[in-house]
Amino acid sequence: MDQKLWRKCVEFHGHECPGLAIGFKACEAAIKKLGVSFAKDEENVCVTENDACGIDAIQVITGCTIGKGNLIYRGTGKNAYSFFRRDTGQKLRIVLRPTKDTKNMSRGERQQAILESPVEELFEFKAPNFDLPEKARLFNTIKCEKCGEGAPENKIRLMDKKLVCLDCFKDYTRGW
Ligand SMILES: [Zn+2]
Ligand SMILES: [Zn+2]
Repeated sequence: MDQKLWRKCVEFHGHECPGLAIGFKACEAAIKKLGVSFAKDEENVCVTENDACGIDAIQVITGCTIGKGNLIYRGTGKNAYSFFRRDTGQKLRIVLRPTKDTKNMSRGERQQAILESPVEELFEFKAPNFDLPEKARLFNTIKCEKCGEGAPENKIRLMDKKLVCLDCFKDYTRGW
């Protein structure tokens, strides 16, 4: 195990925990199975199905970040991460297997057990059942006709013949 890389993840995340260890191992699998390396731009894309601790390891190791638009959140709540490589077209969905009996383990023991497990034991490897998301796009900014704030046009709604932002649209529908 790459201790230096683990320390880097812990430093970014703020603490060490089993969740971070899961993300760390998912990266190890993505590197091993897909040859993923640190993305300076959008050459790798990760679709994560949860917004828990593990994502921080993914951002540090693979360079898939919210800011670059190559970390996409798809909220099924599962411990599943799909990696796509734009250069080779390869894709892989990495899904955590239901955990063995870890109830009697402390947090530290659980974290250590995850870090020491072979990736094949921890995860199932599948084909993603969705396609590579298109590259991050830039949209025109539209000024909301209700609150006056600017928003990208893909987030603008039509209400009462006015172009409005999602905040104002929600106000109107009373949170549906
Ligand atoms: Zn954590
Ligand atoms: Zn508005």
